[in-house]
Amino acid sequence: MSQLSSFIPQKRTLMGPGPSDVSQRVLDALARPTLGHLDPAFIGLMDETKTLLQEVFCTQNSLTMPLSAPGSAGMEAMFVNLLEPGDKVIVCVNGVFGGRMKENAIRVGARVVTIEDPWGEQTKPEKLEKALKDNPDTKAVAFVHAETSTGVRNDAKTLCAIAKSFNCLTIVDAVTSLAGIELRVDDWNIDAIYSGTQKCLSCVPGLAPISFSDTAVEVIKSRKTLVQSWFLDMNLVVGYWGEGQKRAYHHTAPVNSVYALHESLLAVHEEGLENSWARHARVHQSLKSGLEELGLKMAVDEAYRLPQLNSVLIPEGVDDAQIRSTLLNEFNLEIGAGLGALASKVWRIGLMGTGCTEENVEYCVSALRSALNR
Ligand SMILES: *Cc1c(COP(=O)(O)O)cnc(C)c1O
Repeated sequence: MSQLSSFIPQKRTLMGPGPSDVSQRVLDALARPTLGHLDPAFIGLMDETKTLLQEVFCTQNSLTMPLSAPGSAGMEAMFVNLLEPGDKVIVCVNGVFGGRMKENAIRVGARVVTIEDPWGEQTKPEKLEKALKDNPDTKAVAFVHAETSTGVRNDAKTLCAIAKSFNCLTIVDAVTSLAGIELRVDDWNIDAIYSGTQKCLSCVPGLAPISFSDTAVEVIKSRKTLVQSWFLDMNLVVGYWGEGQKRAYHHTAPVNSVYALHESLLAVHEEGLENSWARHARVHQSLKSGLEELGLKMAVDEAYRLPQLNSVLIPEGVDDAQIRSTLLNEFNLEIGAGLGALASKVWRIGLMGTGCTEENVEYCVSALRSALNR
């Protein structure tokens, strides 16, 4: 066997679809001494983390907490808790993650109606309205707010308003949108929402902030069937993450990761949530100008383009994989490849959280310039 030693990674600049760069203050928080998962000091931190999450989600929902698992588990938690076999759900699909929502809904035994729109375009509100008229027995409507696979922002406020006018629950993926663009859980009538820590929160991967409205909590409490996932059953999880000091063991929280999440939420709190949204919008404009100077074009219409995830058309004759490997190997810079229908058609350049800076824009544009000039 070869000599074993500690793993010390290169310092990269992460400008892909996530994970984004984790700031030093968050890495420092991660390295603090581990406490017991029922230590009163840790329980105090859990409560503060829940309060900070309410702030970043713009909600008063008391069931707001981080799940001890990545964004995909947050997605699964929505469907296993809110739907029972035979329930009808409408899922809006215009990219990879909408497609995954559909897969989750199928696996819980729901009757799934999908609304498809082309990758790179928004979900059309008229289509949702028509589907709801055609399916008056629909229980929930699910969609992705920020489709990371394409760089499209779906109109969460409008889609939720339509769903609510038909008395449906609303389930929203906010993995890439949280802290990057405007998102208001209470004002927009979102019943169930999940996010991830490694996108615009610039925290380590592996946790899924979630929030359920009181209406959603009632639905979960009054289920006729057991939630088929023991780990994700919110009726059990709240025994540990719930109210007050009386907490019971459910699983061992990833204690140090919760320190990191708390620190990253504190950073957003200090900057101000709306300032964070504004910074993403501003720095995105700089990236767009820089890319246009290189002759590159944005793939998504300005009206619904995500500032934190920029799909850029790869010019004719340019070798996608070669450029990305030059950036990684010579500039320690990661950008994302296209996925699915957009594979080898676009690059995905992330400007997420603390990585969303003018310096990163300059670095990325100049690295791309020299890679393209070869
Ligand atoms: C990244 C992402 C996910 C999945 O999150 P993981 O932490 O990778 O499980 C889900 N939805 C969207 C929109 C994402 O960008």
